[in-house]
Amino acid sequence: MAGVGVHSGLPVTLTLGPAPVDAGLIFVRTGLEGCDREVQATAEQVVATEFATVLGDRDGPLVSTAEHVLAALRGMGVDNATIEIDGPEVPIMDGSAAAFVAAIDQAGVVTQPAQRRYIQILKPVSASIGDSFGELRPYAGGFRAEVEIDFANPVIGKQSYTIDLSPERFRREIARARTFGQMCDVARLWSAGYALGASFENTAVFDDERLLNVEGLRYADECVRHKVLDVVGDLALAGLPLLGAYRSVRGGHKLNHAVLSALLADRTAWRVVEGEAARRTARGVVEVGSGIVGGRVAAAYGPDVS
Ligand SMILES: [Zn+2]
Repeated sequence: MAGVGVHSGLPVTLTLGPAPVDAGLIFVRTGLEGCDREVQATAEQVVATEFATVLGDRDGPLVSTAEHVLAALRGMGVDNATIEIDGPEVPIMDGSAAAFVAAIDQAGVVTQPAQRRYIQILKPVSASIGDSFGELRPYAGGFRAEVEIDFANPVIGKQSYTIDLSPERFRREIARARTFGQMCDVARLWSAGYALGASFENTAVFDDERLLNVEGLRYADECVRHKVLDVVGDLALAGLPLLGAYRSVRGGHKLNHAVLSALLADRTAWRVVEGEAARRTARGVVEVGSGIVGGRVAAAYGPDVS
C-alpha cells in the first residue's frame, strides 16, 4: 500500500509478507543507503512515544507510527509477518487500521504448523503518568481491553469501551476508527513540525463545538474505539499475544508503553504459555492503497454494514 506519513507528510509504500514460526512481527526498512535494516516489533525497540510509537535501534529511529499496522496484524490474529516500508513512517492511510486489514485479507493468512504462544499475565502491573492510569491484570477469557477517555472538549467528552478481542470483533468494531485530534492541537503540532500529513482525509478533527469533518463520524464513540486500536497496536510490542485484561484511563502511547515495560520487567508477573490454536502468518505480498502499485487492489473504505 502507498500513502503518506502523518507526521512527515512524505510518501511511502508498505508491503506485508510472510515470516516463519516464532519470527514475530518484523519491520524491514528498505530504500536506505547500503543494506536494508530490520527492527523487531518489541517494547525494547521503542525509541519514542510522544505523538506516535517509534521503533529503532542503537543507530537511531527506523520506523515511525508503527501502531496502526501492528494493531491490524495483532487484531486479525497474525503472529508472524514482515512489514516492509521504503520510508521512515508507516503510511497513515485513512487514519484507521482498515487499509491494513484489507491488505491482510488480500494477502491471506496461513496457519503454521506449531502451537501458538502467548504471554499470560499472572499478577496486576500498573503505571501512572500525570492523570493517566493503566493496568494489566490476569483475565481468563483471552485478551480484554477496557479503555476510558475523558476530554475537556465537550464534543469528545467521556467515552468508554470494553472488548474481548477477536478478529471478528476487531474488524467490525475497532479497525475503522480513525485517529482524532483537536484543531488547537493540530495547529500546535504543525508548528512543531509534526502531523504535516494530517488532514481531514486521515484525522477526525474537533473544535469545541463540533466535528469539522463533513462526512461525520464512523461510530458515535469513534474516539475511544481508536484508543482501543492504539492499545492493540502498542501492546503488540509484547512480542506475543497477551492473555489478560488491560485497563487504561486517559491513556495514550506513552502510558501503554510504560505499563507493558513494567510488565516485561517483572519476570514474576507473566509467563509464556502455549495454546491449542496454530500460529498464523500473512501469506504472500500485497501492495494496496491510494497510489495503487502493480495494479493490485485498492483499500476498501465502504460503509460499515455490520
Ligand atoms: Zn492511533
